[in-house]
Amino acid sequence: MAPPHFTEHLEATFDVIVIGAGHAGTEAAVAAARSGARVGIVTSALETIGQMSCNPAIGGVAKGTVVREVDALGGIMGRATDLASLQFRMLNRSKGPAVWAPRAQCDRGLYRRAVRTLLEEHASLQTIQGTVGRLLIDAESRAVGGVETLEGRRFGASAVVITTGTFLRGRIHIGTETKISGGRAGESAATHLAEQLDDVGLVVERFKTGTPPRIDGRSVDYTHLERQDSEIDAFDYSWSHFWPTPRLTDGVSRHPAQMPCWITFLGESGKRIIETNIAKSAMYGGAIASRGPRYCPSVEDKIVKFPAAERHQLFLEPEGHDTSELYVNGLSTSLPAPVQLEILHSVPGLERARMTRAGYAIEYDYYPPTQLDATLQVKALRGLFFAGQINGTTGYEEAAGQGLAAGLNAARQALGKDGIVLGRESSYIGVLIDDLVTRGVDEPYRLFTSRSEFRLTVRQDNAIRRLAAIGIECELYSARELAVIERRLADEDAALRLAETASIVPTQADPVLLRAGSAPLAHSVKIAELAKRQGVSLGDLFAAVDSGRELSADAIITAELELKYAGYFIRERDQAAKMRRMGQFSLSEDIPYGELQSLSFESRQKLTAIRPSTLAQAARIPGVSPTDLQNLVLEIEKRRRMAMTKL
Ligand SMILES: Cc1cc2nc3c(=O)[nH]c(=O)nc-3n(C[C@H](O)[C@H](O)[C@H](O)COP(=O)(O)OP(=O)(O)OC[C@H]3O[C@@H](n4cnc5c(N)ncnc54)[C@H](O)[C@@H]3O)c2cc1C
Repeated sequence: MAPPHFTEHLEATFDVIVIGAGHAGTEAAVAAARSGARVGIVTSALETIGQMSCNPAIGGVAKGTVVREVDALGGIMGRATDLASLQFRMLNRSKGPAVWAPRAQCDRGLYRRAVRTLLEEHASLQTIQGTVGRLLIDAESRAVGGVETLEGRRFGASAVVITTGTFLRGRIHIGTETKISGGRAGESAATHLAEQLDDVGLVVERFKTGTPPRIDGRSVDYTHLERQDSEIDAFDYSWSHFWPTPRLTDGVSRHPAQMPCWITFLGESGKRIIETNIAKSAMYGGAIASRGPRYCPSVEDKIVKFPAAERHQLFLEPEGHDTSELYVNGLSTSLPAPVQLEILHSVPGLERARMTRAGYAIEYDYYPPTQLDATLQVKALRGLFFAGQINGTTGYEEAAGQGLAAGLNAARQALGKDGIVLGRESSYIGVLIDDLVTRGVDEPYRLFTSRSEFRLTVRQDNAIRRLAAIGIECELYSARELAVIERRLADEDAALRLAETASIVPTQADPVLLRAGSAPLAHSVKIAELAKRQGVSLGDLFAAVDSGRELSADAIITAELELKYAGYFIRERDQAAKMRRMGQFSLSEDIPYGELQSLSFESRQKLTAIRPSTLAQAARIPGVSPTDLQNLVLEIEKRRRMAMTKL
């Protein structure tokens, strides 16, 4: 076959090109580089690599677990957060470690610098400034072969990952009158690429999201505001803290000094201003029709949907060490700027606040993700992968998880290896991607623990245990990293062994039990027995018998959870094994579902549209009943038998 026409005039050729350097793009690029690919990451402005478009915080319920998963597979979000975090909280701490959820506020500028530094650690990864205007596509094979930027630079690649966030045909709204074409405040929208994707025939839809105004912290009266300090000085998202992390150019190392947040509220007068001006809101005045994230509502939404609420809490969050700017969390709005200022001035402590940036809403293109296969490859175009907000999700962590999976798979395809699909039973990333490609989205998709069937065994503390085997299979780690991982897993095993073999006597145990509010001990028992009690810490028990000093504290917590909740975990792990077995029943791409008369009409339609890769995925398609699944298996086995007899 003749080489495609576009192989001429290429400035460089990579295995993988990533378009966009937000949270999806940077993880995609790093995962591809770690997989052994030569990677080019092309983004409109190198200064905005790793930019947080909205709230400067990483983690939270379910999201914090994704950060840990990305980190376990060699990603950078956790490491960047450790370099930039200025306030940390472990959410759900009162509910026990099984559901703990780490969340870190970050210095926005430091986070960007950290991400760029971590990208540049990879010798095979080249950063390129440019706005991609079109993909180079070989029409005959319907395969992607590179990109061309609006500046006229052309790069070849075997696989391309698009991670353009809110930029495709992005339109910013402030009030009903102000409409600005833009992908984020102050940055141009990407229209050329969107137009080409129309020509390719992909289905495109619109979603919206919004962001609050920012204020000058020097204009705030803190006298009566509630101060919220960091829970602890240093929390490590990343296991990579076992060796020196890079110092950013100004010498900042892990965990910069912590900063406080401040709590205030929107009260009656603020509510009245919003009610009076509601028709001027872009979202309520008819300027925007698309759907937004239900769980990050605008302040207009809150006032309309919860009219009885007397006040709405607002958090004033520092933007960084080098600025006095504050992010007003809870006040996302698309009202006109003068109204935003009026609302701010109604808030206690903000009576004289100066607004540095107005809040806004943004509408953008996304591509219904049922157009992707389970590796995040576009079904209609070989070599093209989508990750992040472009797939209808919202949130940095959701973007990062997809980016990692897409980058990994793009690299593997470029290098002639099989695709890798993370299972629902092994990760939240697996849940996220499976939900996207199997069920699609009808509102911006955000992760919650309730989306996972395995939320007791898929936790933030055990990401390495769950995912290291995949990282090893994909050869993602250096020898040094592998040694750290093996040490961590060995520590967990050793902690369990120690707990199950070592005994503890009442005089050693009772002070620990007293502190935990648990009944004293009558006679000596194995440590594992006591660690099963609610509130009793395995680490404290080890300390009481003066053992396990050499084991890492994180590994001891994981071992404690394994002991405490063993009964529940067994049930989930049985279910996971069942799902894995169904996952091994693969469904080829060419099954003529339309001809399988023993399946219901609805099932035939849905299976034809989604083309699941395994029986487990087929089982999760809404409308495909257990009877249809049984009939599907029978039909496939019948066809296999017929094919065998023909041979
Ligand atoms: C105004 C606003 C408010 C938001 N509010 C929330 C919220 O309340 N809650 C929440 O969870 N999430 C919110 N988000 C979403 C969050 O920012 C995204 O989910 C996340 O950043 C998505 O990551 P991404 O990597 O997909 O895209 P982004 O982080 O947007 O990165 C896109 C990257 O692509 C680059 N790019 C775009 N087009 C091109 C091109 N043609 N060529 C080269 N480079 C290109 C951009 O420069 C950028 O680097 C908000 C986003 C915005 C803009």
